Amino acid sequence: MKILTIDLGGTMTKYGLFTDGVLPASYERPTDAKKGAKHIIDLICEITAQFEDVSCLGISTCGYVDPWDKKIVFSTDAVPGYTGVPIGKILEQKTGLPVAVENDAKCAAIGEMQEGKGMKYNNFLFLSYGTGIGGAIAVNGAIHHGSHGLAGALGHMTIHADGLECTCGRRGCYEMYASTNALLSSIRDRTGVTMNGREAFAHSGDKRIRREIDLWIDEVTAGLISLANIFDPSAFILGGGVMEQENLIREIGKRLNGQTIGGFTDIAVCQAKLGNTAGLYGAYYNAMALLTEKQP
Ligand SMILES: [Zn+2]
Repeated sequence: MKILTIDLGGTMTKYGLFTDGVLPASYERPTDAKKGAKHIIDLICEITAQFEDVSCLGISTCGYVDPWDKKIVFSTDAVPGYTGVPIGKILEQKTGLPVAVENDAKCAAIGEMQEGKGMKYNNFLFLSYGTGIGGAIAVNGAIHHGSHGLAGALGHMTIHADGLECTCGRRGCYEMYASTNALLSSIRDRTGVTMNGREAFAHSGDKRIRREIDLWIDEVTAGLISLANIFDPSAFILGGGVMEQENLIREIGKRLNGQTIGGFTDIAVCQAKLGNTAGLYGAYYNAMALLTEKQP
């Protein structure tokens, strides 16, 4: 059976054809998200037309998703006009295929749950650090969706009242302080140097950069401690390029353990295993669930 999976990111769109459960290759092309919702639909149709004998389409997308009505509940201006779009139904009409749609961080968490670090844990929180922070909550081996599909918007918990303005329209959100972009902005503001995440860690011997990284790790950890108190997970699985730093993962684990209510010291902090194909794996498992008529 062939399942086409597409992971729509704000910058790049990845896709790949699973054949009998195996993903032999993945491809990518620019999303051009700024061209808006209609362009996104056209892009998916264009990619779908390249493949034959597809049984189902699995979509992982930026924005928050109602997986039952297969529509976008909320998207920032990163994709103009995306909020409210019934993307699943439109694609079903246009392609004639059954379509499963899910938020990208939730897809990545499903991928980790099925084939990655989440296989070991029944209760875990997945967070992906990049431009913003995506999240997903896995409870008793399933992704928690809440009543609107919004659950897992961990990047938008308020951690600084009246803090920095966020893309969601509110202030003081976790991602404004703990995303990779937040770290790079504070390095730029305090030192005048513009760098990417990898360069920042490569220059951590520089005292001024070390200090910014240190303060940023405190922000990352503060959010995780709150989440640990709320959800009591056995593990945090952290994704995004910046979390490929083993030292960073260890440091977060060290600062977090012992700090929750009850002082528990056995909360695992680990690096996501599937990297940038996690979303495709999640989209695949969602599509398979749809074909066997299970809820995502
Ligand atoms: Zn926000």
